[in-house]
Amino acid sequence: MSFVRFGALAATALLSTVAMVGSAGAQEVNIYNARHYGTDQQLWDAFTRETGIAVNVAEANHDELIQRLVAEGENSPADIFVTVDAGRLALAAEKDLFASVKTPILEADVPAHLRHPDGLWYGLAMRARVLVYDKERLNPAELSTYEALADPKFAGKIVVRSSTSVYNLSLMGSIIAADGAEKAEAWATGLVANFARPPEGGDTDQLKAVAAGVGDIAISNTYYLARLLASEKPEEREIGEKLGVFFPNQGDRGTHVNISGAGVLKYAPNKDNAIKLLEFLVSPEAQRYFADISFEYPVNPEVKPHPVLAAFGDFKQDTLNAATFAANSLEASKIMDRAGWK
Ligand code: FE
Repeated sequence: MSFVRFGALAATALLSTVAMVGSAGAQEVNIYNARHYGTDQQLWDAFTRETGIAVNVAEANHDELIQRLVAEGENSPADIFVTVDAGRLALAAEKDLFASVKTPILEADVPAHLRHPDGLWYGLAMRARVLVYDKERLNPAELSTYEALADPKFAGKIVVRSSTSVYNLSLMGSIIAADGAEKAEAWATGLVANFARPPEGGDTDQLKAVAAGVGDIAISNTYYLARLLASEKPEEREIGEKLGVFFPNQGDRGTHVNISGAGVLKYAPNKDNAIKLLEFLVSPEAQRYFADISFEYPVNPEVKPHPVLAAFGDFKQDTLNAATFAANSLEASKIMDRAGWK
């Protein structure tokens, strides 16, 4: 695998293996990046400007990168693994890929529920899994909790992506933690009975389906709606403007939130630089990037979200540790299978 430096090449390809990138003494850091947003190069460039440390990035999907890290073992050139969803970070942690890292900056800038208790990984940005509804056809006073979506009054009204999505596995993991496995399964069964159609597509497709009248309520991550609302395409803004956001469970544990996150790797050849990069990523400067370019909520409480997200309103977060709901994902998957959630 070779790294793409400064985005000089198309950023998606994994190429042939190199034993080690760069020469001894060179200041650099090597990232395996599974975020699929295509804009993260701006972040790496800013880090290099600030520290003089060159950034090399290999991008691929999370499964490929995790397999790669396992196969490379202690010969891996990678210093840090970046991905979305705590479920995927948990998978990498399970394979013992991360080093335990704790620094005063990381602990101050990242709230406790958005980082691994042993410092194996840290949240860099946050997203909430919310209910998005058609403002004309649904009165938000009808909505309350995730649990209430299993009420027969919502029959034929709910659209959501497949149970194989790590976003849904994590949500279900949080419901197992809150309600227990038995109630979680009854809930999933009731929810599936209320589907407007069998799951298809990603979160954006669910939002479009609600705007098109296929269903009245979508379960979606916040940034997908924010992207529609901030789109340069008038037809996308039009879709977004038909939709309202509802934060469930405000009267009890709060709305399920998840992270984009990263961990320093156990065999990192440039461990100090990786820690510097991690600290940079949670600094106010880099947090503005997550807020303004990828429409995620900053994890650093000092940084305000983008106005489009801020307009959704303040909300109470479920502060269940991301490592806990992620650890429930295998059980979540079995429950969703039994409930017939395709
Ligand atoms: Fe996503």
